[in-house]
Amino acid sequence: MEAELRISRSRLAANIAAVRARIAPAELLMVVKDDAYAHGVDAVAAVAVEEGVRWLGAIDPRSALRAKAVAGDRARVFCWLTLGADEAAATLEAGIELGVGDAGYLERIARVARTTAVVHLKIDTGLHRNGVRREDWPAFTARAAELERAGRIRVAGIWSHIAEASDEEDDVARALFDAAVDTARAAGLDPEVRHLAASAAGWARPEFRYDLVRLGAFCYGIRSADGPEIPGIAPAATLVARVTAVRGGDVEIGVGSLDGLPSSLGGRVDVGTPAGPRALISVGLTTSRVAGWPDAAPGDDVAVFGPGGAGESSPTTLAEAIGTVGEEPVLRVSPLIPRVVTP
Ligand SMILES: *Cc1c(COP(=O)(O)O)cnc(C)c1O
Repeated sequence: MEAELRISRSRLAANIAAVRARIAPAELLMVVKDDAYAHGVDAVAAVAVEEGVRWLGAIDPRSALRAKAVAGDRARVFCWLTLGADEAAATLEAGIELGVGDAGYLERIARVARTTAVVHLKIDTGLHRNGVRREDWPAFTARAAELERAGRIRVAGIWSHIAEASDEEDDVARALFDAAVDTARAAGLDPEVRHLAASAAGWARPEFRYDLVRLGAFCYGIRSADGPEIPGIAPAATLVARVTAVRGGDVEIGVGSLDGLPSSLGGRVDVGTPAGPRALISVGLTTSRVAGWPDAAPGDDVAVFGPGGAGESSPTTLAEAIGTVGEEPVLRVSPLIPRVVTP
């Protein structure tokens, strides 16, 4: 194997502990969408529940179903993509709670649920990504209360998603959110949990934590691009590639753009080698070139990104070098690269 993505169990656990300590008494809903940010949802969900995480969530039902299969009754699982009837039925059957930001979807859920469907109602607080508009919220929550009294649904939560790009915009969103919760209560709903923030606002701004914080990136140790270092977290994933050839002063490593390494990284970042940081000179299709070191030999390990132990860049440093979001370098690692969980 020329490359693998190593997932450190202890690092993941330490990140989870750091974010839980930070947001307490609010609870962590650990986001495991997109195959747990490409770390592998089965392994990540197992670590999370062993560490005592009681909520997991994903936009995509595939990640949510995998997480639920691993967690069983040890964690509640939340899925927020608007699903068709069959998929909604299957997801409910598995015991997953659904995010609902659309009046038609609420009716669909009420229709297909074999037992009381547990839902979290989503108000649009400005992002205009599937949430119920403010003007439609009173009628929506009134209808939800009616379906709840009929035993078709149970409204466990009220939620929204914010941009986390500017404090001022987030404050406006939070005021809209509070008003929406009041409206829902006036309609007769009694949600157990309110959730609004993701990693950045959840970490930095206590008033955004409510009962649950949906954290993804920071649990994996990925800080925001152009954002501050976060004490107590470090990347859980290291992309390791073997040296496949030594050519003059350079070495060739067995990972390239077809494996998900952005070719624009060539000439822009350092990778970690047995001799410390070395420049990533260029990225080819299946191999890449790295500045060599004195006794480099085929079979040596090079860390393309990781926690920094061998002088490599973090995923976020790579992202900053090419102007993208912090989690993108990990998300792009091909599913064909094996995920290997290490202690
Ligand atoms: C991805 C996502 C999150 C987690 O965001 P991070 O910045 O990775 O913590 C939270 N909520 C929703 C709705 C999301 O889609």
